[in-house]
Parts: sequence; structure tokens; C-alpha cells
Amino acid sequence: MKFRINTKRMGLWLSVVLCAAMLGACSKQEEGSSAATEKPTAASVQPSADTSKASVKPTADSTPSPAASAAPTAVPTIPAKPVKDGPLTIQYVGNSCFFMTFPDGTTIITDPYPHTYDQQFGPAPEMDVDAMSISHSHADHSPGAKQFKGNPLRLLPALMKEPIQVGGVEVTGFNSKHVANMGDNEIFIFRYGDLKIVHMGETDKIESPEARAAVKDADVVLAYAGGYGADTIKNAVRFKELYEMGVKVLIPQHFSNNPDMIFYGGPTIDQVLADVPKGITIVKQDEFVVTKEMKQQFVQLTSMKMD
Ligand SMILES: [Zn+2]
Repeated sequence: MKFRINTKRMGLWLSVVLCAAMLGACSKQEEGSSAATEKPTAASVQPSADTSKASVKPTADSTPSPAASAAPTAVPTIPAKPVKDGPLTIQYVGNSCFFMTFPDGTTIITDPYPHTYDQQFGPAPEMDVDAMSISHSHADHSPGAKQFKGNPLRLLPALMKEPIQVGGVEVTGFNSKHVANMGDNEIFIFRYGDLKIVHMGETDKIESPEARAAVKDADVVLAYAGGYGADTIKNAVRFKELYEMGVKVLIPQHFSNNPDMIFYGGPTIDQVLADVPKGITIVKQDEFVVTKEMKQQFVQLTSMKMD
């Protein structure tokens, strides 16, 4: 009798202990899963006000590339974001600076410049971005643009030995020469699904076989359209060659945004447009949406309005 009572008590006690242990395990699992889906810290990506999407599972679109999932390196990568399912859009800031928003919500800015160039290019960018690509270290393509909030990943040429994953975007870089023999320049390729966008930086030609293969058949090339130095290849020649490489859309960069302040000999937009090959449609837009259905065209983007 005594033994049976003790067994019941022990059973009850064991049940309580087991339940407590299970509850503890559940809450620990929840802690673990929320930690796993939390947005990364400022070390790799800027904080976002919107945490409501943090627990949505990424889809196949945002699977990290092999390079991103390889052994840890000194280069931080930004984990894929939950899919927002918006379009891939490109907006123009000024000089060589574009603001790209990808369907998973990842944002990347190219070649930002500081406020010291507001007169020449328009107001310097200040928006929240996940990453910025820097083609070279001249002040008008500046890694020293400090006006950004948070701590965007800086995609510097020296880091581009391997592809870097920024959310659902795979970024690769190819070394080239800056116009007028002014050092090195990085050509950046941004891939999202089957879409491919190229930013030439400040080079007038794409020389290495690897870079040419990467640029071939690009959906969009943000094409250098300056004219710095006597030896710089003419826009008409470069534009034609890019279309012959199968590029669908050219969007010019590094021309004189302010016709009253001609920048380093850069042509005005009217001079740039005069060099577009015959038969290529020219369109003017505030924002360009990248799709697979695009035909060959030349897009003049107006500078985006800053808040
Ligand atoms: Zn430069």
C-alpha cells in the first residue's frame, strides 16, 4: 500500500518534472528559432525598423550561393531577406550612383558621393541601404560618403575576389582600368535569379575575357558615358559594342548632371543621347523596372527626388 502510494506520488512528480523539462525545451527552441531568424546585427547589415517579416521563411530565390555558405571569411555576407515580391527597380541619384531595390527587399547603392558634390550631381544619397558598391576610391565614387544611416556593407574592389551574397543578390567584381590611366576600377555584376545588372564604374572598356563573359547578354548595363581624357573610347563606339554583346538596356552614368557645371569634361545628357546607335529606342523615365521581357533600348533616368 505504502509502496503503491509512493509510486503514484513518484509518477505525479515525474510527470511534473517531465512537463517542466518539455516546456523549458519548447521555450528554448523558440528562443533558438527567433534568434536564427533575427536580422543580423550592425556588424553586417543596417538595422531595419520593420521586424514583422523577420520570422517569414526565405524562399528558394534567396538561397545563399556556395560562396556565401562556405567557411567563414573576413568578408561579412548579408543573409537573404524574406521575399517582398516587388519588382527589381533601378533609380538614378547622380554621377555613377544608382539605388537598386531587389524583389526580396535587398537594397544596394552604387558609387555614392558625399554632399560636397551636391552642386554638380544633385543631393547626395542618404537612404538606408544594405550594401554599397565602390568601383574605385576617387572622391566622387566615395567609400568616405559617411551620410548613410546604419552600417551598410561596403563592397570594395579588394573584397571582390569571390562572389559576395547580399540578401538574394549575388555580387561579383572584375578588375579593369580606370579611364585615362588613372589606376584600377572594378566592374560589378549584380545577379538576382536570372536577372543580371552590370555597373561599369569609370572604365571605358571591358577587356578581360572573364569580365566580357560576365557582361555578355546582361539585362542592364549602367554604362560609363563620360569623356575624360583624349584616349577615352567614344560613347558611340562603347554603346554599340555593348549592344553587340547582347546587352538589352543601357543606362548612362558619369556624364555632367548639371549642364552649368561640366564635370571633368563629361558630356551633357543631350550629347550622350546623340551617341546612341541608330535603331535603338531612347526612353526617359524616373524609375526603371527590370524584367526578362525588355527589348533593346537606351534609358535616360532622371535623378530621384530626395526626401
Ligand atoms: Zn574616377
